[in-house]
Amino acid sequence: MYKTHSCGELRTSHVGQTITVAGWVHRRRDHGGVIFMDLRDRYGLIQVVFNPDLPKETLDELASIRFEWVLQITGLVHKRPEGMENPKMATGEVEIIAKEVKILNPAKTLPMMVSDDTDLPDENVRLKYRYLDLRREKMTQNMILRHRVIKFMRDYMDKNGFIEIETPILFKATPEGARDYLVPSRLYPGYFYALPQSPQQLKQLLMVAGMDRYFQIARCFRDEDLRGDRQPEFTQLDLEMSFVHRDDVLAMVEGLYNEMIPAVAPHKKLLSNPWPKLSYTEVINKYGSDKPDLRFGMELHDLTEIFKQTDFRVFQSALEAGGVIKCIVAPDSANMTRREVDELTESAKGFGAKGLATLAVTTDGLKGTAAKFVKAEEVEEVKKLTGAKEGDLILIAADQRTVVNKVLGGLRLIFRDKLELADPNMMAFAWIVDFPFFAWNEEEQKWESEHHPFTMPKMEDLPKFDTNPGEVLSDAYDMVCNGYEMASGSIRIHRRDIQLKMFQMLGLTDEDIQAKFGHMLEAFEYGAPPHGGMAPGIDRLVMLLADEPNIREVIAFPKNQAGRDVMADAPSAVEEKQLKELHIRIVE
Ligand code: ASP
Repeated sequence: MYKTHSCGELRTSHVGQTITVAGWVHRRRDHGGVIFMDLRDRYGLIQVVFNPDLPKETLDELASIRFEWVLQITGLVHKRPEGMENPKMATGEVEIIAKEVKILNPAKTLPMMVSDDTDLPDENVRLKYRYLDLRREKMTQNMILRHRVIKFMRDYMDKNGFIEIETPILFKATPEGARDYLVPSRLYPGYFYALPQSPQQLKQLLMVAGMDRYFQIARCFRDEDLRGDRQPEFTQLDLEMSFVHRDDVLAMVEGLYNEMIPAVAPHKKLLSNPWPKLSYTEVINKYGSDKPDLRFGMELHDLTEIFKQTDFRVFQSALEAGGVIKCIVAPDSANMTRREVDELTESAKGFGAKGLATLAVTTDGLKGTAAKFVKAEEVEEVKKLTGAKEGDLILIAADQRTVVNKVLGGLRLIFRDKLELADPNMMAFAWIVDFPFFAWNEEEQKWESEHHPFTMPKMEDLPKFDTNPGEVLSDAYDMVCNGYEMASGSIRIHRRDIQLKMFQMLGLTDEDIQAKFGHMLEAFEYGAPPHGGMAPGIDRLVMLLADEPNIREVIAFPKNQAGRDVMADAPSAVEEKQLKELHIRIVE
């Protein structure tokens, strides 16, 4: 070893010992002959003092040392003089009086500072020099937290009888609703592997194999447009269990999170334990979203009945078109400026609204864009239903139900951020259950599976497959937290006849079914046990626990927002010879 101790571990108990440490020059200050350096490694910082009585060669060498040079230092651990302690540093009561210093490697001037978080460069610079960015304390802590989360998961799963089984990365298309990444086969010209969008089929086949309880820290690949907070590859705790009902799976995962969060992120609080189970319909109606943030109220209220006889043209035409009228009440927002209301209206339009009506309950009476058009008794009823009081702003959307829910659900989150209604240290977990089984694709005029095609419908809804597919509910569930979808899963189809029917409903031809999923259908003929599972995402969980704004901050080497690895410069061109071997010609 180049060192006897790590920089971060030295305490008063080491005083008097001669030790050797190795690390990076984090800071240096020259004080009239005495040089102070903070040396850093993964474990922390230690102050090193170089006195002028060191040999001349050492002093000469010291003059050249800059930030981020890699040094090995031998010296005496010394208690810092009275009044010189630094309570902000874990090692702040001691320092090393250097006796010898060895330069292990110099460093050029860095393209970014790593010793503090102010003045961070553009994200692309951080990603290009990710190995430097990761030296920053916050990033190092994020990596450690991610490790702790995964370690906790592995231990918990093991304790509960799950075994970790690796599944192939080179596989065949597994539909999760995204585009596949394809890998051309050299040995079979014109044929391709697909990278798994998830190990869905494989984990089900492991249940057919009798493995009973499987898990894997699994990498998933989906070639999606990189809007927002997505990565082409991401990590899930993939799990599957045999002979279980929905609530058995939920209890297993809920237990994991309830144990893990206090252990890995003690500053986070759980809003409820046990977690609520809310139906899809209920949350859509109440929060305008199937991934509601439950840390605050501002629920949606249905005003359709109240405005049945309205004189307001805008409301009338929405009702005539079969729509609904709903509102949210923003606390203490009645005095918002014209400009702020205009901005809200723009946001509402972004969510699909044609416009936004407002009623402001002010000390000088009712104001807002709809004030002139509503009757006094209607306002009274709205106040009674919603509890709106003086100082509140009522925001009303009138349109088709899905539009209204989306718009008000979106505005609700804008107010959350604007009025800081949600405690950042609260984790509001919930299960969303009873999802619709099918979603109608208007563009392609066909039914699609809302979850994935291996999900079991509610048994009692099976007869509605042919008569009323839109009403069939599925045995699927999502885990949500603070407005994010954290996991989804389901009880699976384990009967060949139902699985076949499902593929047929999705419009697949018999040849397609055979070519794509023949292996699944066949497996179900050899005694497939009832089974179910889910796949909690790891990136987003660590992001929330680390108080980071996006998942790239908790992934060591993420792609940038344009899907590129800017450090290694990928994707990149390959040699003509490689293309030839793969039987590929690039069409300009
Ligand atoms: N395979 C699903 C997904 O990745 C999760 C599951 O149903 O277990 O979204």
